[in-house]
Amino acid sequence: MNSEAINSLKERLKNRCRIVLVPHKNPDGDAIGACLGLYHFLRQLGHDVSPVSPNDFPGFLKWMPGSESVEIFDHNKAKALDILKEADLIFTLDFNSLDRCGSMEEYLGAYKGIFVMIDHHQSPGTYAQFTFSDTGMSSTCEMVYHFIRSLGEVDRIDARIAACLYAGILTDTGSFKYAATSPTTMRVAAELMERGAPHTQIHRDIFDTNRPERLQLLGCALQNLVILKPYRTAYITLSQEELDRHDFHKGDTEGFVNYGLSLRDVVLAAIFIENRDEGIIKISLRSQGSFSVNEMARAHFEGGGHINAAGGRSTESLEATVRRFESVLPAYENQLAG
Ligand code: 5GP
Ligand code: MN
Repeated sequence: MNSEAINSLKERLKNRCRIVLVPHKNPDGDAIGACLGLYHFLRQLGHDVSPVSPNDFPGFLKWMPGSESVEIFDHNKAKALDILKEADLIFTLDFNSLDRCGSMEEYLGAYKGIFVMIDHHQSPGTYAQFTFSDTGMSSTCEMVYHFIRSLGEVDRIDARIAACLYAGILTDTGSFKYAATSPTTMRVAAELMERGAPHTQIHRDIFDTNRPERLQLLGCALQNLVILKPYRTAYITLSQEELDRHDFHKGDTEGFVNYGLSLRDVVLAAIFIENRDEGIIKISLRSQGSFSVNEMARAHFEGGGHINAAGGRSTESLEATVRRFESVLPAYENQLAG
């Protein structure tokens, strides 16, 4: 991390500040883990810290210490705006552009104070006075660990901070299997274990808390799987009616897209999920090897992400979105065909 920026931020953090921590909309384990890891750390330094999330986060992350302190913008806008107005510093975590904050975007865009970005996505925006961006990092949580270490404060990482950061690294690396998992990632995870992260319990809290309805929904998703062999592509659809029929809860579809990618020879997997409330189809894309779903999401689905994991949206119907997806595949034939 840029030592000049670290030193300058360190100087600012010598005085008590009101700090707001913001994850991206539909926050995942990495975004919430980074928020709550920093929450405990910055409170230890004596600051007044408030995490504010654009919308709610899945139940399988609510075991994280401090999760009850997260203010949900969509649930209590007046209170969230009061907190934002008073902020001396806003940390934006696990995203590269304010348009990833849903309806919070306009208020963050108008904020005149100091932004600190910690993120590992490609193409970081320029809104922050302090930008810690590293696309080679496994996760924002790993970056938060390095950030704390660069401040010379690594010994403040207690069991609560370790649990939050470990959870984010675990989820963003697909349990340490994705390519961005480096030897350093493993060393950081090991140190977090030494500092008290209860790794078995964390794994169970995140991955083994299924309701029967969620497994039934997975069954439905797998029934809907379509394989396009010539393009080494597989996709899944879930309509709102199917979600309703299986008592859908936020977070229930997490990880479903990976089943497509688990097929032998498949290099591109997608899931299309209807969201009637928002009037959109939410799209998740995953790939193996050099095929960039970040590029595909940017070019066709108003989204972005990483080379092997990206997301986007469509305002067309589920059927029309899938047709459009199929219609863009020929343009990628050289990269997709075996
Ligand atoms: P997921 O498919 O799990 O929602 O997201 C995978 C990756 O793509 C994450 O890194 C996430 O931040 C990014 N991503 C998901 N949806 C969007 C989107 O609508 N816009 C952008 N720019 N990135 C997204
Ligand atoms: Mn992340």
